[in-house]
Amino acid sequence: MKYLSTRGGAEPQSFSDILLGGLAPDGGLYLPESYPQVADHLAAWRKLSYAELAFEILSLYVDDIPPADLKALCDKTYTAQTYRWSRDAAKAQDIVPLTSLTPDFHLLELSNGPTLAFKDMAMQLLGNLFEYVLDQRNETINILGATSGDTGSAAEYAMRGKHNVRVFMLSPEGKMSAFQRAQMYSLQDANIFNIAVRGMFDDAQDIVKAVSNDAAFKAQYRIGAVNSINWARVMAQVVYYFKGYFEATASNDQRVAFSVPSGNFGNICAGHIARMMGLPVARLVLATNENNVLDEFFRTGVYRPRATAETYVTTSPSMDISKASNFERFVFDLVGRDAGVVRGLWQQVDAGGSFDLRGTPTMAKLASYGFVSGCSTHADRLATIRDVWATHRVMIDTHTADGVKVAREHALPGVPMVVLETAQAVKFSETIQEALGCDPLRPPELEGIEKLPQRVEVIDAALDQVKQIVVRECCR
Ligand SMILES: *Cc1c(COP(=O)(O)O)cnc(C)c1O
Repeated sequence: MKYLSTRGGAEPQSFSDILLGGLAPDGGLYLPESYPQVADHLAAWRKLSYAELAFEILSLYVDDIPPADLKALCDKTYTAQTYRWSRDAAKAQDIVPLTSLTPDFHLLELSNGPTLAFKDMAMQLLGNLFEYVLDQRNETINILGATSGDTGSAAEYAMRGKHNVRVFMLSPEGKMSAFQRAQMYSLQDANIFNIAVRGMFDDAQDIVKAVSNDAAFKAQYRIGAVNSINWARVMAQVVYYFKGYFEATASNDQRVAFSVPSGNFGNICAGHIARMMGLPVARLVLATNENNVLDEFFRTGVYRPRATAETYVTTSPSMDISKASNFERFVFDLVGRDAGVVRGLWQQVDAGGSFDLRGTPTMAKLASYGFVSGCSTHADRLATIRDVWATHRVMIDTHTADGVKVAREHALPGVPMVVLETAQAVKFSETIQEALGCDPLRPPELEGIEKLPQRVEVIDAALDQVKQIVVRECCR
């Protein structure tokens, strides 16, 4: 399987070559040259464990890692020990167990990994893939990232203790919850560096972009990224759509709907790909919070990324995005994989503009991709968290609440609705307090993590200071 850029200007690449990189050299995103068709495999796949299913699906996309090694990586990644924080401990071996609220309305638990958010599902695999490929090539990598919460901790827990990998993670000083800070800063692994920047998330993000644009520094210090445009992350996420389908249905002639709390369009992009591969998906329900740029697109055909100043800070913060970095992958498929059209559309987007598909032939095709959408507000989140707790005695987090709220507006009779549960309530205890008047349940092992010693360097929002830390650690 070769990988192409959505903008058509890059040589086709193999999987291992795009694994460690980010954007394609022409500024596009990598996608496989075709989607393998798997409808005939569903019967055999239904019986597989999560790790076995992951191996079958990944094998279709990865042809430059020997199968036995790929199998070992899947087995090592998807264990009940790593994904052990399920509601019902007895179901931990499912890796992504289903919590059924009604016979036709389910939550797919994707947040049972080490950082209690769905990003662990893909990031844990990425950590093992990076270590494997770097060992093979005898190379090292310095991962530089900026986080406002979930991505940074997922990356650190995936890369901690890995050979040949260092992680330098920038976060805005004092802007994350006490729990999120404790999760990241209490890590004592020698290859993990937490850097708190005096400023906002955007200041941290700007420094990371400045380093990425410094080609000489980037090459000399082998700077890499693990952001959500990484193809391997999207690929790993395809697996749980299949597993969720098997858990929510009794036979392969049934269809299901998935509801996905969305920010950068990474999670639901994997759902789109699963559907393109032949998974019987009746609907992909895209749920946003007040930052509704994607909801607006699927309702109107207008894609209008927002300015940073126009981006709301909400109580589902991992969905607070101004533009959706993975959306270009879907649009590439939508326009019939015509890279020239994508280039034209993103010329407008990259210049700070928008695009409008109303009245075009592309708009007429949009309906055939199965998307519907909706958005949710803080008041909706509170009401949904309260209702799910009162009716079902199930506690959900704020992002999952957005997914449940919009799912209820788009349920189809007789079609199971599967809401992807993207985080656990404990990560957002302030809002849980506001909704329910009590503290969320917390896994016993995480009791008191806020009191553990923390390891973090605080610096000004200055490019030079970050570079100095990287240089210092690489020259040790
Ligand atoms: C990252 C994240 C999302 C958004 O996922 P995308 O892939 O960016 O659409 C939703 N919920 C939680 C809890 C997250 O951490």
